[in-house]
Amino acid sequence: MKEIVMAERAGFCFGVKRAVDAILEALTVGETDRAVWTIGMPIHNPQEVARLRSMGLRVAKDASEVPPGVRVLIRAHGESRAVLNELREKGVCVIDTTCPFVRRAQDLANSLSDEGYHIVLLGDRNHPEIRSIMGYVDGGIDVVADEAEAERLPKRGRVALISQTTQQEERLSSVAAVLVRRAGELRVCNTICRATMERQDAVRALVGRVDGVVLIGGRESANTGKLRNIAESNGLDVLWIESAEELDRGWFEGRQRIGIAAGASTPEWLITEISNKIARM
Ligand code: SF4
Repeated sequence: MKEIVMAERAGFCFGVKRAVDAILEALTVGETDRAVWTIGMPIHNPQEVARLRSMGLRVAKDASEVPPGVRVLIRAHGESRAVLNELREKGVCVIDTTCPFVRRAQDLANSLSDEGYHIVLLGDRNHPEIRSIMGYVDGGIDVVADEAEAERLPKRGRVALISQTTQQEERLSSVAAVLVRRAGELRVCNTICRATMERQDAVRALVGRVDGVVLIGGRESANTGKLRNIAESNGLDVLWIESAEELDRGWFEGRQRIGIAAGASTPEWLITEISNKIARM
């Protein structure tokens, strides 16, 4: 291997950095005797979560597991109104670090549903961000993963299409093209966030310049998964790893130029550690 090319945008996005900084501050400043909890993994990166846990962070499976009196940090994906109410009723101190881009999707879902639109969310129905947006809709709602699922929706009068922030714009456009034939009136809200698009563009910019990409990010990270799809659909070979231990020497054989890309939930220290190990190989 002769050269390493770093993707222009890689690693923590604004929303994740904001949430992680808030956890670090809560753990180290002020009422440090009051435990800090998150509901679910604060970010989709096991190495960073292990670091935060070693500093004292507690992770609950759901709101019912959170004891009264503690501090609870709402992660960048946000939470539904029902979960926030449950926490407030328990008397815990809520530190809300819902990413403003996710908040915008929640607010649009809420106001358009109130205006009588049937909400269609484009995304992964098991992803916490989609579940948090769903929790702001009082009327009808469907979640679709792709064009084929959109084709199966019944015809309706007024429909609003809202996207998970990590979706690809091409998919949002093609799902909108399907729904326009299945709705009397269609509102399309492009709620894909810039950080996601910038990381996707950075992977596209590697096409033709490298003969393989090491992609660093948690296996549960939706935006890292999208980066893999983009690289592979452009003919790039991808080695997706979470940690330096997963680097496979055999994969590098015969390759001249390697790209390094990372999802929006991958911390800088991990990118540096892995890049240094690749450089030494
Ligand atoms: S990927 Fe975008 S929406 Fe998600 S946390 Fe980062 S900045 Fe916010």
